[in-house]
Amino acid sequence: MVSRVIPVDQFDLVIFGATGDLANRKILPGLYRRYCAGQIPEGSKIIGAARTEMSADEFRDQTRAAIAEHAGPMADDKKAVTAFLEILEYVAIDAKGDGGWDTLKSLVRTEAVNAFYFSVAPALFGDLAERLHTRGIAGPDARIVVEKPFGRDLASARALNATLAEYFDETQIYRIDHYLGKETVQNLMAVRFANILFEPLWNSQFIDHVQITVAETVGVGGRGSYYDKSGAMRDMVQNHMMQLLCLIAMEPPYHFDPDAVRDEKLKVIRALQPVAPADIVRGQYLASKDAPGYLEDSEDPESTTESYIALKCHVANWRWTDTPFYLRTGKRLRARTSEIAITFKAPPHSIFDEAEGEWRENVLVIRLQPNEGMNLKVMIKEPGPGGMRLVQVPLDMSFAEALGPEGADITDAYERLIMDVIRGNQTLFMRGDEVEAAWAWTDPVIEGWEKRGDRPQPYDSGSSGPDDALMLMHRDGRRWRDIRE
Ligand code: NAP
Repeated sequence: MVSRVIPVDQFDLVIFGATGDLANRKILPGLYRRYCAGQIPEGSKIIGAARTEMSADEFRDQTRAAIAEHAGPMADDKKAVTAFLEILEYVAIDAKGDGGWDTLKSLVRTEAVNAFYFSVAPALFGDLAERLHTRGIAGPDARIVVEKPFGRDLASARALNATLAEYFDETQIYRIDHYLGKETVQNLMAVRFANILFEPLWNSQFIDHVQITVAETVGVGGRGSYYDKSGAMRDMVQNHMMQLLCLIAMEPPYHFDPDAVRDEKLKVIRALQPVAPADIVRGQYLASKDAPGYLEDSEDPESTTESYIALKCHVANWRWTDTPFYLRTGKRLRARTSEIAITFKAPPHSIFDEAEGEWRENVLVIRLQPNEGMNLKVMIKEPGPGGMRLVQVPLDMSFAEALGPEGADITDAYERLIMDVIRGNQTLFMRGDEVEAAWAWTDPVIEGWEKRGDRPQPYDSGSSGPDDALMLMHRDGRRWRDIRE
């Protein structure tokens, strides 16, 4: 199966923060891959901007190295790399300064789609927005892309929204959450809303519970003092995991249209109940033989920031009233894996005797990484003679296997999302009210443990997290799925 390349209009994309980690690891290599796929129309330009003084040629050299390191096998096509580098320009600009803006204005054409990617610290978003607007660089149809973190609580998110709204309309603001650009995450919507199969069962009458796991093997070393101001709740739950929860729990939108989808997600966030203290477990990883523990990585021996969190939450509406959602995410865990597991209830009556095999629940597993795909566990008869014996087997749909080599080459989330910005499609971007609603739910949870003075529990590096997280499910008669690749 050959993936289709949907053309976009000619564009000028300015990347603020073009010398930074995100630009070099994701944005520029991603754009190169789109170039190779034939999706960047002739005449389009990519303009790097940051404070560092360098020529366009030096920026091209930097990008060549970034492509070699991060663009995968496509980086071997030297001719394509050279042609791609020709569409790059560079301007030295300080977001807070006056220099460079006239040069930038002369490079950005009004007749092309204009997009401005703010791959810089959020403290600079306001300065960039203000200068792009007041200097007449961004027209009424220009788009700005802003990175996470979008605020650290409701008050700061509101302030940021208000600042951006001074210069840009909501339809011009693309708040990126790269989880929404993942193939499987979008497939979740396709599976739910393009098939009749699941939707009749998609409620608390038939679904026992939902588990969402985002496990990492790395610690926070290198960016410990930055992470320590955030923690797993702010860094992962408020944004990425909340988005996944929304896509599972939302009602069918009337159309696959940006506001229709985001309206439904917003309703889910608003229906989230406050989380009881007993339903939250926070942890900090301990040192291993060859790596320091969280307290050393964070450079604060007294830190109470969590590198792990598990919690149980409820969506209070007709569809989900009795179905708990269990969320967990952490660093230095046993394996790097992200998945959503939807566990169905038992059939109302079993016609089989116990001797015919142990009944196991149906589970739909949506894997985000590694090996994106879906897997439905069903009970069947064990093949062969010897009478009726039940056994659970997975109906496995790995995209790599189901769709052939093209399916295996899953477009990176950033590539897809940047092209959506050029297309002017906001479906996979968070709306301002959505972000604020997510913080409105998150803030009291954080304030609760801060007021109580709770300390995170230590857990072994390479484990599944703190023991109490196991208890969170055990006491409900359920268990977490194993964390494994
Ligand atoms: P980074 O490596 O620290 O890069 C920051 C960039 O901002 C550099 O290019 C820097 O270049 C530029 N910059 C700093 N001050 C500036 C100023 N006053 N005017 C203009 N440019 C300025 O950070 P990053 O990791 O790329 O992250 C960028 C943004 O993306 C942050 O908001 C981060 O939270 C978010 N994010 C990053 C990742 C990731 O994987 N890295 C993932 C999700 C979100 P000069 O020093 O040359 O000015």
